[in-house]
Amino acid sequence: MNTFPDGFEKLIPSIHKVSDFIHDHPELGLEEYLASAKLKELLRSNGFTVEENAGGLATAFKACWQTPNGADAPCFAFMGEFDALPGLGHACGHNLISAAALAAVFCAKIELEKRGVPARICFIGTPAEEIKGGKVAMIEGGAFNGIAASLIAHPFHKTIPDPGCLSVSRCTVSFHGRASHAAIAPEKGINALDAVAEFCCDIREWRKHIGERERVHGIITRGGDAPNIIPDYTEAFYYVRAPGEKTILPLKKHLEALADKAAESTGCTAEVKWISAYKGMTFNEPLNDAFIRVWRERGVEIPRTNGTEGKGSTDAGDVSCLMPCAHYYFGITGGKNYAPHTIEFRDAARTSEAFGQAMAAGSAMSEICIRYFTEPDFRKAVHEAFDRAEK
Ligand SMILES: [Zn+2]
Ligand SMILES: [Zn+2]
Repeated sequence: MNTFPDGFEKLIPSIHKVSDFIHDHPELGLEEYLASAKLKELLRSNGFTVEENAGGLATAFKACWQTPNGADAPCFAFMGEFDALPGLGHACGHNLISAAALAAVFCAKIELEKRGVPARICFIGTPAEEIKGGKVAMIEGGAFNGIAASLIAHPFHKTIPDPGCLSVSRCTVSFHGRASHAAIAPEKGINALDAVAEFCCDIREWRKHIGERERVHGIITRGGDAPNIIPDYTEAFYYVRAPGEKTILPLKKHLEALADKAAESTGCTAEVKWISAYKGMTFNEPLNDAFIRVWRERGVEIPRTNGTEGKGSTDAGDVSCLMPCAHYYFGITGGKNYAPHTIEFRDAARTSEAFGQAMAAGSAMSEICIRYFTEPDFRKAVHEAFDRAEK
């Protein structure tokens, strides 16, 4: 069965080229100039109006299109990520997120033109998902103002609707002691390494007692300068994760208490700085059901999710607190259970089979967008679910 609208298939080779180009030229968050330029070029040449520097980020953009009678219609967006990982390249397959979003806007444009309903659609180029939270900065910069709903599809080892994600807060934990010669005058020193080591051990014990959807994990980033100097300064970098704002707060407080305890027992002082955060996913059941329905119509049964399965975090969580949003997944590994952020997953993200799955996921998202503009009851249900949800 053909899953694409007439006229889309001739666009597929140019999308494939962009997807492979992004994979072949991995760029880290906020440095994705090549990827951003290729995407904007293809969108412009297909009739989209591009706004550069969306939300004040140099590699972010918005590419919009509307039907002739669509000036007052709500704007339905598809998000495209394109950042790579340090040392691993496109091991999260973000080239395919962009490819799926391109397929979604192009399929939606063809279908909306044919039907003539008032509609506005948009490809939002969202950089720096992996570490720097591009969408959070774009929201602060106003790039999501005026968007009514948005979708994103991420490669995975299987196709599933939105499983939800955890809220994450990131912090640096630093300990201040006093330097001294480690052999001649150890009694004159205050050992900041002892403090950070005790902190890490306490976290390890605490981890045994946290909830099933809670996480605490980190690394020591500074552990001293030389073995014969009592370290006067050490630092760790930690994440805590929980389903939402309310549940993450006690975890943050407990981490702070463990830092104080480690400082007190070693004579040091501790400082915890919360440096960035992503919100958890606000689950939208109608958008999730719509994804399941598209696949069922294609003869494929995919599992149902309720938004409490996901253990990762994404800055799309912040978008989902502003508007109806869903973060779908599509399988690219031919059934093999490769995890994202591995070499195997990176290689899978460059295959023709994976690209084909991105096209299928993109056209599935476009069908949901078409329903949004042509079925008032569906649109109402999507917005009512968002209004009802706890954020
Ligand atoms: Zn990733
Ligand atoms: Zn990713």
